[in-house]
Amino acid sequence: MSMRGGPGGRGAYLTEEEKAAAPKVTKELLARVASYLLPYWKQMLIVLIAIAVASVLGMMPAVLTGKIIDDGLIGRNLDLLVKLILASLAVSFGSNLIGVLQSWMNTWIAEHITYDMRSQMFRHLQKMPQSFFTSNNQGDIITRMTSDISGVQRIITDTLTSILSNVITLIVALAAMYRRNWILATLGVMIVPLFTIPTRSAGKKRWSLTRESQAVSDEINGILNETLSVSGQTLVKLFNREEREAEKYEAAARKQIALNIKENMAGRWFRVVISTFTTIGPMLIYLVGGILMMKYNSDITVGDITVMVSLLSRMYGPVNSLLNIQVDWIRSMAMFTRIFEYLDMPVSIESAPDAVTPDHVEGNIVFDDVHFSYEPSREILKGINFELKAGSSIALVGPSGSGKSTIINLIPRLYDVDSGSVSFDGIDVRKLDLTFLREQVGIVSQETYLFNGTIMENLKYANPKATGQMIMEACKKANIYDFIVNQEKGFNTMVGNRGLKLSGGEKQRLSIARVLLKDPTILIFDEATSALDSISENLIQEAIDPLIKEKTSILIAHRLSTILAADEILVIKDGMIVEHGKHSELVKAGGVYTELYETQFKKALES
Ligand code: ATP
Repeated sequence: MSMRGGPGGRGAYLTEEEKAAAPKVTKELLARVASYLLPYWKQMLIVLIAIAVASVLGMMPAVLTGKIIDDGLIGRNLDLLVKLILASLAVSFGSNLIGVLQSWMNTWIAEHITYDMRSQMFRHLQKMPQSFFTSNNQGDIITRMTSDISGVQRIITDTLTSILSNVITLIVALAAMYRRNWILATLGVMIVPLFTIPTRSAGKKRWSLTRESQAVSDEINGILNETLSVSGQTLVKLFNREEREAEKYEAAARKQIALNIKENMAGRWFRVVISTFTTIGPMLIYLVGGILMMKYNSDITVGDITVMVSLLSRMYGPVNSLLNIQVDWIRSMAMFTRIFEYLDMPVSIESAPDAVTPDHVEGNIVFDDVHFSYEPSREILKGINFELKAGSSIALVGPSGSGKSTIINLIPRLYDVDSGSVSFDGIDVRKLDLTFLREQVGIVSQETYLFNGTIMENLKYANPKATGQMIMEACKKANIYDFIVNQEKGFNTMVGNRGLKLSGGEKQRLSIARVLLKDPTILIFDEATSALDSISENLIQEAIDPLIKEKTSILIAHRLSTILAADEILVIKDGMIVEHGKHSELVKAGGVYTELYETQFKKALES
């Protein structure tokens, strides 16, 4: 018997943290939970009726046993005996049949509610600002999407139906018992709660062991996650940590051995206690029933006593689970609260209600006194002013961490400015339709994100309608076509986890091709700082140079050749534009640019 049932797959006892964090159950919360159930009220009504009918029918064979014994066996009436047996079988079959219908309907409802919640959550999460993803743990986000919502599903399939069927079973059993004999029935009512005492204390012990072993499995999962990932293994290999990691893993796994054995044995003792107690109950009924029959000449029959015993054992389960309902209830409310917490997080970046979609696009970008900070205490951009005219190009240069990537993040509204404005064709980006705005901007970032799929799938991500001809042209322009067709599987080559099967240069060229398929008005190129070999670099340069001439573009440049391709250079330092102009002027000015030129660009040129 598992003690890990109930929502969330945890024990039947609330932990101290759970008790402390138990949510306040308000009318609003309940109404909100109900709003997810309401669309399925018809199906729920069917389930309700099915549960009631199945519980009543389920008790019938036990009641019929009395008649089988008294009227059939003791009364020596074979005809009646056969009829009663057949009736018993039919009733039991009928109740099981209804049970099937009920669990099908139940699962159907739970699946639909889960689906509704998950899609609502997924859509909501996709609208969350970038800062949400940088500051929240990815594991936590996924837990809410998966386990919390499946916890809700369990509440509907298990908790709700078990409350209902248990209450009905109990009422029917009690009514049947009292109709037979009130003394034995009262005895039964007194015995049943006694059964639940050992269950509860043994369960508690087991639950604390389960928690300990869960903590160890979390630790093991952590080790596995860290060491068996691509980047983890690279680190392990490069620092010769294999032996140390194996020792760490084995130490944790050894802890688990001891705990698991203890946990299993706790379960074993628990069963001994339970079965002893469950035999005491029937024995008591036999004893008291016998005394009533023999000493007090009561009209109680052997059949009555048998029915009592069988009803008693049927009451044990429902009583036990009804005693645990409070735990399930608190836990499910906590789960709903966690889900609602995410759904209530404000979507700070979305299209304004009166957002505009211009029908004529040029591609002028203006930054007007832009201030921006990721965290309130630290201003990253301190008054940025510049204009990018349609058809021209700008190179952003500056020391690492000066705010170059931050500037470009503001254009497609990955973040919003704190003050000042960024405008596109004279309209503040916050007033533009967000889909429209993001269609206009194409970014080739340093972190070229490719998902685990084929080259073709990654390319089509930008434009699902792209034709073969378009794809071929884009790849040729991005200087990646020859590489692709030389692969054994061509466009069907898998790129691996996050594109790790490709080199840095190949990834970047592939992502240039992807942006070309998107065909944006503004092209943003965040040049990789990491050194690429000169062949790779030349291939990228050849791809990017004509594009810069063709498109309105912003380049975050680390190499002189890229800088020279731009019409204007902005030098960023500490979140401000400290110099701007052309290479020939800046290099002679003796400022930040001259220094960068001497220390970085020139060297790169010589190497
Ligand atoms: P590099 O050339 O090294 O890429 P950069 O000039 O592009 O640097 P940004 O990425 O714009 O620099 O970062 C500017 C500053 O903002 C850095 O000091 C960085 O630590 C900080 N920063 C960047 N992203 C975040 C974030 N999501 N949350 C908080 N701070 C951030």
